[in-house]
Amino acid sequence: MLRTCSFLLLALLGWHSSAEAQTRRTPKTKANPPAAAVNSAQWRAEHYVVDRDSAYGNPYVALRKLMGGNRRFVEDKSIKPRQDRAALTNTEKGQKPFAVIVGCSDSRVPNEIIFDQGVGDLFIIRTAGQVMAQASYGSIEFATAVLGSKLLVVLGHQSCGAVDAAIKRPDVPGHIVTLVNSVKPAAEKTKNMPGNRLDNTIRQNVIDQVNELRDLEPLLSKEYQNGEILIVGGVYNLATGKVEFLPETLKDLPAFKPAAATTK
Ligand SMILES: [Zn+2]
Repeated sequence: MLRTCSFLLLALLGWHSSAEAQTRRTPKTKANPPAAAVNSAQWRAEHYVVDRDSAYGNPYVALRKLMGGNRRFVEDKSIKPRQDRAALTNTEKGQKPFAVIVGCSDSRVPNEIIFDQGVGDLFIIRTAGQVMAQASYGSIEFATAVLGSKLLVVLGHQSCGAVDAAIKRPDVPGHIVTLVNSVKPAAEKTKNMPGNRLDNTIRQNVIDQVNELRDLEPLLSKEYQNGEILIVGGVYNLATGKVEFLPETLKDLPAFKPAAATTK
């Protein structure tokens, strides 16, 4: 059932390597392009634009769309799509988010901005350390089973305070201990790893959370195994603005198979 999608990995590696060279955003002086140039084939290619309907229909296309939007953000050429009055009108009666983001509440990780998307595009569940419990599970299941979203991204970030607390285990008041306890297993796994413990734990936490969702009964595990949805993970770099999609979560992905129309 599980098969490697080599074309995807090649595409990802291409983006990864090209973006690696770009460690800092370099602000550019931008003149407004002539109206006729906007949305031309050349303009779309230069801005990594991916068709929204295609992204909603196929999670691999959705992943490319997120990567393209993040690349625009990193290169300081965001187009801020679907953020006008027309977008409100178009989404007033319903929503078809093409991706679900399970991310951290950290104020420095504003999802629509870093992926350069707009109204109705992303269904977002945010808690500190992107720790999940029943309400998160229900929200994610609602997005996939009712709204028809097919791409799930667990998004950690550099310098995450919740992960740092799971490593240092300070005395914390109130319900904060719930967050610490949830990330503790990832912190245990990185105890003897070479390299930076916080960075390692941030990555491990994302990997564990991706697996948590892939195994989640009764809906997500079946949808994932059937190839109806895709679940991957990434880490956001606060300095460069880049999201690195983790190779550990891009291996042996199921081939996409649309669910029967009756279930959506
Ligand atoms: Zn965080």
